[in-house]
Amino acid sequence: MTIPQASDFCIDLHCHSTASDGALPPRDLVRRAADKGVTHLALTDHDTVAGLAEARAEAAASGVRLISGTELSCVWKTQTIHIVGLDFDPDNPAFREALARQHENRWGRARMIVERLQKTGVTNLLEKATLVAGGDVPGRPHFARVLVDEGKVKDVAQAFKRYLGAGKPGDVKAFWPELAEVVEWITAANGIAVLAHPRKYRMTATRLRSLVHDFMRAGGRSIEVSTSGQSSGDLGFLAELCRRQELLASQGSDFHFPGAPWCELGNIVKMPDGLEPVWHHFREPVSIAPAAQSGA
Ligand code: MN
Ligand code: MN
Ligand code: MN
Repeated sequence: MTIPQASDFCIDLHCHSTASDGALPPRDLVRRAADKGVTHLALTDHDTVAGLAEARAEAAASGVRLISGTELSCVWKTQTIHIVGLDFDPDNPAFREALARQHENRWGRARMIVERLQKTGVTNLLEKATLVAGGDVPGRPHFARVLVDEGKVKDVAQAFKRYLGAGKPGDVKAFWPELAEVVEWITAANGIAVLAHPRKYRMTATRLRSLVHDFMRAGGRSIEVSTSGQSSGDLGFLAELCRRQELLASQGSDFHFPGAPWCELGNIVKMPDGLEPVWHHFREPVSIAPAAQSGA
């Protein structure tokens, strides 16, 4: 029996399609991943699994192994945190219900933004913003776009300055559930909860350790160690945190659209040695060493 070499594998466990805020439909995304040499892929659209079926069909055709994924928004001490769920059962009824609630949260927020922007005098604002968002729930950038198109402001920057930025009427906070709650949804659906891009929250090391502590207490088992656009200092810091807390190490590009080489599919900096990869713990384990491809 030949032992698979790490260099034969390329694992990307974080990316987005048009099912959330990515530019490529799931089918094209999987095809692109295959072209980039990705062998194991998790599509992790924000608060949905809507793209999984299409991705799965293409993955089978392209010879990519698709791992079920999603990226859930939640709140920890008033701050929005992202938790990636991996290798869960996407048909778990309680999980599907939880995702439907997340979706409803997004629409509730969009409707409140519309209410707060009444005085701009734009008619059918929700419909127009939804159109800009490609049929999905509009967020603040989509509303900004409409305000520009309607001639209410000269550009997106001005839309934020007057209406949507911090402290302005359209600055509506999302109604996300607590961190512990979303970790439990993932765990209950037989998945692994992963703290996404831990250095993107701009926390002090002390606060991040406190977050990790609460995350683990809720049942979280893994953190992203290697993510795109990350300094080598951050990589070392997260590797050390991972070792000390005996967390599983995950990696992903957080790809959203083509044309940004620093967060391209499969372009993942090699994880430091001595970490336990999360993929060894999938229900159907991927039994190889951490991926060996290095970042460009
Ligand atoms: Mn995104
Ligand atoms: Mn994120
Ligand atoms: Mn993401």
